[in-house]
Amino acid sequence: MSSSDFSTLTLRVELPAAIDSLDYESMTPIQAQSLPVMLVGGDVLAQANTGSGKTAAFAIAMLNKLEERRYQTQGIVICPTRELADQVADEIRRLARTIANVKVLTLCGGKPFGPQLASLQRAPHIVVGTPGRLLKHLEKESLALTNIETLVLDEADRMLDMGFSEDISKIISFIPDRRQTLLFSATYPDEIEYISKSIQLNPVTIKVDSDFSANQITQIFYKAPKPDRVQILIQVLKFYQPESALVFCNTIEQCEVLFGELIKRDVHALTLHGDLEQFDRDQVLVRFSNRSTSVLVATDVAARGLDIKELDAVVNFEITRDPEVHVHRIGRTGRAGSEGLAISLYGAEETSRLNAIEHYLGATVNKKNPSELRSVVKESMLPKMVTLFIGAGRKDKLRAGDVLGALTSSSELTGANIGKINLFDKFSYVAVDRQSADRALEILSDGKIKGRSFRIKRLR
Ligand code: AMP
Repeated sequence: MSSSDFSTLTLRVELPAAIDSLDYESMTPIQAQSLPVMLVGGDVLAQANTGSGKTAAFAIAMLNKLEERRYQTQGIVICPTRELADQVADEIRRLARTIANVKVLTLCGGKPFGPQLASLQRAPHIVVGTPGRLLKHLEKESLALTNIETLVLDEADRMLDMGFSEDISKIISFIPDRRQTLLFSATYPDEIEYISKSIQLNPVTIKVDSDFSANQITQIFYKAPKPDRVQILIQVLKFYQPESALVFCNTIEQCEVLFGELIKRDVHALTLHGDLEQFDRDQVLVRFSNRSTSVLVATDVAARGLDIKELDAVVNFEITRDPEVHVHRIGRTGRAGSEGLAISLYGAEETSRLNAIEHYLGATVNKKNPSELRSVVKESMLPKMVTLFIGAGRKDKLRAGDVLGALTSSSELTGANIGKINLFDKFSYVAVDRQSADRALEILSDGKIKGRSFRIKRLR
């Protein structure tokens, strides 16, 4: 039995079965280091990136001491974005599957208030939310935090960046002092230390060696002067052919310029940045995660909370000034054990940033000449899948099985031709493989789903 076996932990009887069902074979480094402390009630200040397994770590700690027969809110997770809150709540629910009747509720901005009030009629055991909305519920007294045992601040650095520190302090004033406080942050600026001192009690500090991700990431830097950079990016994409690549720019403006340039050159790209409306943002995320778009151009802020499994490559179209941010960016590929590729493009004017990264990593990075990228035959860069939009969703009582059933009823298509199905309240998306897309569109447009016709559209 190795020290990273979950069986080394003393867990309530239901949890090992839930962990097994998720195929988590052994603990990730952050889990192995933090769980022994958290399970005995200690405060933890952890530096951990997305992809480190931090969510499962605090979820297990929280669920282990949950008294599900007590209908009071016992755990709260504060997150910077709605996407992150949704992912965190999903992970907690997955781990809580084997414990009867655990209610986990998300309370985020950008969502109607009324349904949240209705859900709060019976107190959830755990709430996960964004600062503004949580505070609003506390002020309206629709949420009570007087019985909180565990407080988690997730991506605390990002919440500070977004200006949430005052809201967070106000929320904490509603929580009893006698509690366990777990603070997770990807980077470690001085303010984090300061916040920790003001809200935690003798926290154990854990820094996960970035090796966990770095080991499985091949990192290469290509010299790419600004005027040639778009072309070199395209060569990179053609050479490595990642099925999904997240391309980072430092600013929203650069995202838009690059996005335009890629579209002009027929690269199947989308962009994600803070200015997008929720509908567009959701649609971009769906299309990237279901592999019908292979290139997503994003800023750091927009990419936060993005939980795309098996991200083949991260490309830095521009290097960031902050080496910690660089490590965080590239940590998005090669997650939880799979291999990743991180490519960075840099010009002479960015040499000092490159030096800062080398200094931070304590190693020289692998630099290559873009001429090495030329050897590859031109191949189509069309993504494997295509997304179809369906003008009906959960509120129409549509379920994933209904869409799958409609598509496969004539047996021309099988489950193997069909990818992810994402349901929203009023519409849905289904991914189908490119060769079957026209047929799938016909089947859904001509036929019926659950006996009803809905608007169907193929997205680019
Ligand atoms: P996080 O860092 O919380 O965003 O988690 C990254 C991903 O790793 C999530 O998709 C988790 O479901 C997954 N994960 C968490 N713990 C483990 C584990 N012990 N083994 C394998 N995968 C894990």
